[in-house]
Amino acid sequence: MSKVVIIGAGGVARVVAYKCAEYPGVFTEFMIASRTKAKCDEIAADIRKDLGYDKITTAAIDAEDVPALTALLREYQPELVIHVALPYQDLTIMDACLAAGVHYLDTANYEPKEEAKFEYSHQWAYQERFEAAGLTAILGCGFDPGVTSIFTARAAKHIFDEIHYLDIVDANAGDHGKAFATNFNPEINIREITQNGKYWENGEWVEIPPFSIRKDLTYPDVGPKASYVLYHEELESLVKHFPTLKRARFWMTFGDEYLTHLRVIQNIGMAGIQPVMHKGVEIIPLEFLKTVLPDPGDLGENYVGQTSIGCRIRGIKDGKEQTYYIWNNCHHAQAYKETRAQGVSYTTGVPAMTGAMMLLTGAWGGAGVFNVEQFNPDPFLAKLGEHGLPWHEEIGGDLEL
Ligand code: NDP
Repeated sequence: MSKVVIIGAGGVARVVAYKCAEYPGVFTEFMIASRTKAKCDEIAADIRKDLGYDKITTAAIDAEDVPALTALLREYQPELVIHVALPYQDLTIMDACLAAGVHYLDTANYEPKEEAKFEYSHQWAYQERFEAAGLTAILGCGFDPGVTSIFTARAAKHIFDEIHYLDIVDANAGDHGKAFATNFNPEINIREITQNGKYWENGEWVEIPPFSIRKDLTYPDVGPKASYVLYHEELESLVKHFPTLKRARFWMTFGDEYLTHLRVIQNIGMAGIQPVMHKGVEIIPLEFLKTVLPDPGDLGENYVGQTSIGCRIRGIKDGKEQTYYIWNNCHHAQAYKETRAQGVSYTTGVPAMTGAMMLLTGAWGGAGVFNVEQFNPDPFLAKLGEHGLPWHEEIGGDLEL
């Protein structure tokens, strides 16, 4: 029925490709295009072996080269680009989609290379151009942002009359056996967590030093884990689209060992994003660090334990206070068995494929740039469990927050 192009060939792209291949009725053929073609070929070969799906084309592309990417899209003629390369490429890929007349979907908001600053303004500025072209751009369709935003939309639509307090809680209770590794691109991950924390309260952003608010939260099937408030990009679009929110925070778990490594990395300057001279060559310390850290795509094999990510929400229903918790747990080992990728790649790739399916089957659509909470959450959540991420909910429990 539809052709898509997947851009990127990391852990998330691998999961998206596996998942598209599992639904050949929707994804009749697809291309994997990335900077290193050999990585695209490896994913295509694994899928051919594991699933017998062989309608995959691969290509080398620099997604920051708009004319080259436009030419590739014009030649292959997909309906949709699923962008799971890096956030640095969001705008150039959106430009190429506009030039070639192709819908767009991503999992992370644009970030300039020279400044660790996550905000939607750059991509929301494409609203008129996508509208005029009659094309859809779907922003942030991974797990967080993505499923957490859709969980919130479900709460607002079905569970509450008004939502007031939102806490997104993200636990990774997995163990990959390495002293220090990040679960997705180390450069993007370290930039995200070393910036100041930020949350929304009473109509304004409250900024806090990194890791300065900590609480032990209990996660289903996982137990208590030290959780820290940090800024996460979906907060920006959620407080815009759900203006009844009085407070919105994001919590993520970190172990003491991880935080110690991170502190040392920062103290010795290895988290720097400004260029320094090394033996006559300009290098960026954080980029160099990425080359010596474990590749997140290689963590899967011995990864045990699970992730647990969800939304804890308080609000009003029929004039009374109500609490609500909606979450998914995902086992790293199960994700690896199915796709040869670990749970964090899996929880990002499955929603990206599901969002793509929503667009291609007409359940989601419209001309313009959309965050996922602006769409109907029901058809997406009806498919998410079947696609590998079953979700659970509880009304009226103790939220701890
Ligand atoms: P990886 O670093 O494993 O993979 C990134 C891929 O993008 C690599 O294959 C890389 O190529 C390719 N790439 C980088 N630059 C370019 C370029 N200029 N042109 C073409 N390809 C390029 O990352 P992950 O798979 O772990 O993550 C992918 C995305 O998912 C990231 O944007 C990340 O922020 C997002 N994410 C979102 C989450 C969510 O819940 N919303 C959670 C986790 C991740 P090469 O192989 O040559 O380096």
